[in-house]
Amino acid sequence: MLFKSTVKTNNAPLVTFKDAILRCLPEDGGLYIPATVPDLRRFFLYMDQDTNYKEMAATLAANLLQGELNPYSASWVAESAFSFEPDLKQLDERFSILDLGDGPTGVFKDFGIAFLAAVMEEFLKNASPVMVISAAQGDIGTSIANAFHKRKNIIAVILYPQGLVRGIDTEALLKNGGNIIPIQVNGSLDDCNKLIADLIHDREFSDRYRITCANAINPGRLLSQAFYYIYAFVKLKQSLQDALLFSVPCGNFGNLIGGLYAWKFGLPASGFIAAQNSNNPMIDIAAGIRGTARSPTATISPALDITYPSNWERLASFYEETPAVMKNMVTQRVIDDKTTMRTIEDVWKRYGIMIDPHGAVAFAAARDVASQKGFYDHIVALATGHAANYPEITAKVTGKPAVIPERLALLRQTATPCAVIENDLFALETAIAASY
Ligand SMILES: *Cc1c(COP(=O)(O)O)cnc(C)c1O
Repeated sequence: MLFKSTVKTNNAPLVTFKDAILRCLPEDGGLYIPATVPDLRRFFLYMDQDTNYKEMAATLAANLLQGELNPYSASWVAESAFSFEPDLKQLDERFSILDLGDGPTGVFKDFGIAFLAAVMEEFLKNASPVMVISAAQGDIGTSIANAFHKRKNIIAVILYPQGLVRGIDTEALLKNGGNIIPIQVNGSLDDCNKLIADLIHDREFSDRYRITCANAINPGRLLSQAFYYIYAFVKLKQSLQDALLFSVPCGNFGNLIGGLYAWKFGLPASGFIAAQNSNNPMIDIAAGIRGTARSPTATISPALDITYPSNWERLASFYEETPAVMKNMVTQRVIDDKTTMRTIEDVWKRYGIMIDPHGAVAFAAARDVASQKGFYDHIVALATGHAANYPEITAKVTGKPAVIPERLALLRQTATPCAVIENDLFALETAIAASY
């Protein structure tokens, strides 16, 4: 599978998956997107309900990445990445919930990050070490630290904006013999992201330290997010009467893009619902209208409080290719907090399942689409977060204190960063050089 930049430069060379994940950003300022799309139908159409997630991920990865990842290595990657798996809960004829909250931080992003870390380690066998630098707020930092801890030939630097650094095991820190370096920046998350782009584009420095990134700008995360859509289809296919749709809670649109890749690989999905909260980052997807840089409003689904989605160029590239097809493929819904809360309560009462506010945005959007006249298709709503990460809501809805799994309780423990720096490229480069 080959990758190209979203910036259409004539004669720009295509790169392999390995090069794309190790470079992370093309030099022209764009983002990497697939240039070739393998058809995987012959692999997953024959998988059955008993196929487990690791086996499926290994088969799909080996066939997507032919020539780069042999079946043996792909099995190792899947085995080493996934100690957790998606859980498809079929509610009735019309709806299912795909629960993606089983990972170390209880968030769907664990799936993409875990795969990226494992495949990087595999590619770096017998190679010189690399440094993976990422910007993170809250739990994503923990997800990255977890996925990269103990990975051979990799040092992971995590840039935190102002606020609490938490959820990192002291054993994992480089200075204690681990391979993780948390650095706090006196600035915002956007400042951290900007620093990373500048650092990658400082070719002399980034070549010396072999720097790449584990943020969603890395195509390795998004590619593996296609796998759980295919998993949902395989689990459901025997009971499907009509077509299948997916409802995805969208902030930066990385998850939805994973679904669109799955569709390009042959997943028989008849549509996707881009479920947003009132921040509505894609004011009009079909018209390619990205939200503006207005400041986001705080809602009860904070991961969707985005007004200027970072994957916009990637999403736009689908529309540029086939605008009419995409118009039919993706519909949008905007769900307010009141509806989100009512949906959590209703899903609990009706099905006995506690979903988090992000999953509720997806489920509310799914219901709205399903209420159209003559609609008989099945909709899978993606529950992207674990309800225990919102203990107050859980307690209020169930009438009992939330049971918080130990791994999620650890997320709340504060940690001390290895350095605190100003929002400045030179300060960052100095801190990195000093941590060796
Ligand atoms: C990040 C996140 C989302 C949004 O995913 P995007 O890929 O940014 O669209 C949804 N739900 C949860 C719980 C998240 O953490």
